[in-house]
Amino acid sequence: MRYDVTIIGGGIVGLATALALTERYSADLLVIEAENRLAAHQTGNNSGVIHSGLYYRPGSLKARNCVTGATALFHFCEENDIPVERCGKLVVATHRSELPALEELERRGLANGLQGLRRLTSGQLQEIEPHVNGVAGLEVPATGIVNFRQVADAIGRRVEEMGVTIRTAARLLRCTPSSSGLELETATGTFTTSNLINCAGLQSDRVARLCGVDPAVQIVPFRGEYYKLAPACRDLVRNLIYPVPDPRFPFLGVHFTRMIDGSREAGPNAVLALKREGYNRYSISLRDTLEVVSTAAFWRMTSKYWRIGLGELYRSWNKAAFVKALQRLIPEITAEDLVPGGAGVRAQALDESGNLLDDFRLVEAERMLHVLNAPSPAATASLSIGGELATLAGRSFSLGEKQNSTAPRQPDRNTKRG
Ligand SMILES: Cc1cc2nc3c(=O)[nH]c(=O)nc-3n(C[C@H](O)[C@H](O)[C@H](O)COP(=O)(O)OP(=O)(O)OC[C@H]3O[C@@H](n4cnc5c(N)ncnc54)[C@H](O)[C@@H]3O)c2cc1C
Repeated sequence: MRYDVTIIGGGIVGLATALALTERYSADLLVIEAENRLAAHQTGNNSGVIHSGLYYRPGSLKARNCVTGATALFHFCEENDIPVERCGKLVVATHRSELPALEELERRGLANGLQGLRRLTSGQLQEIEPHVNGVAGLEVPATGIVNFRQVADAIGRRVEEMGVTIRTAARLLRCTPSSSGLELETATGTFTTSNLINCAGLQSDRVARLCGVDPAVQIVPFRGEYYKLAPACRDLVRNLIYPVPDPRFPFLGVHFTRMIDGSREAGPNAVLALKREGYNRYSISLRDTLEVVSTAAFWRMTSKYWRIGLGELYRSWNKAAFVKALQRLIPEITAEDLVPGGAGVRAQALDESGNLLDDFRLVEAERMLHVLNAPSPAATASLSIGGELATLAGRSFSLGEKQNSTAPRQPDRNTKRG
């Protein structure tokens, strides 16, 4: 079987791209996934928060896709009976020095079109979250919660019903151009495809290289570790409680999250992982570690972020330090209230100058599109990113539109040519 487009990676971005493509174009589509199930990595191990678009630079891919993606996601969940809730969240300033950053967040939120943002005094914060300690805060009513693994599985079922082939346990090993397109050798067979879209998350830079494209970035894995609140003290947290993030760092800081199943999580931190799919502190891959530390970009990054990085590492090994970070938001929380939770690993792109890329990065090459940076809020934004990728693919791969396609067109700015 020869496919028109093959998507590498059965996480939520790859699956959402398959959905947008199959809704719009008459094309034979294949999704290949390395693991033996969908959503095995970032998508299935995240915080489950539907972000509102508060944090992102107006005009960026993150801002645009987060706002439209969240709307599409709520709609998709309602249509497919997936439990979802628009529970809102609080961003809490615990010290007066954080007030300018809180104001900047409000400005960004307004510029990104968020409705219902409200500045809160310390007293108003406690009316919403009685155990929280803060000098001021921001209420963000548009934020929601969902289980992204359920969403990914539902998208997978939907695309299969629409004729897309999904192959799991099919890690891409080699990609060879041929007269008929691209030969994709995988762990469980070889496929011929005219075009491909790389949505391989933690492996996306390697997949690009394997396809003959220089990604110009390197994926650096950052593990996010969680604790769970013991059931007896769940009422310390009603919904979502976030600190004001450190603007120098692309992660949001440890926070409290009510999960859609009712449990409460605290975290995630952001620790440099020694293995791309390394879910605990003892997971080490020599190849992954050497690949990161042998580059000048890594050492440039280290010179910028070493202080924050060491703090994260210390909190990873020292529960008391983790608890102390949480006590800034909820002073009465103690180590006994927290039991170990799971972890996820973020695929964060690092450029040659040692900068952690802030925005999503989509790169076009001949017969190919590569998604080279899709960190948070890419799960929230996935249906919108999928739409953007489908627009690009339709044009670059000359796909034929379906007669009855009603899917919205999206702009295709901010992409780079590889
Ligand atoms: C700890 C943590 C918390 C987060 N919290 C949130 C949140 O609350 N809200 C939010 O919106 N976002 C959140 N994110 C970000 C979000 O989870 C990711 O941005 C999103 O899941 C990225 O999806 P993806 O499909 O690009 O990647 P992935 O889900 O990682 O999927 C990539 C897939 O590609 C497959 N693959 C890799 N190599 C190959 C190969 N060679 N051949 C075939 N397949 C391959 C992998 O097995 C994997 O299944 C969080 C992320 C983490 C890690």
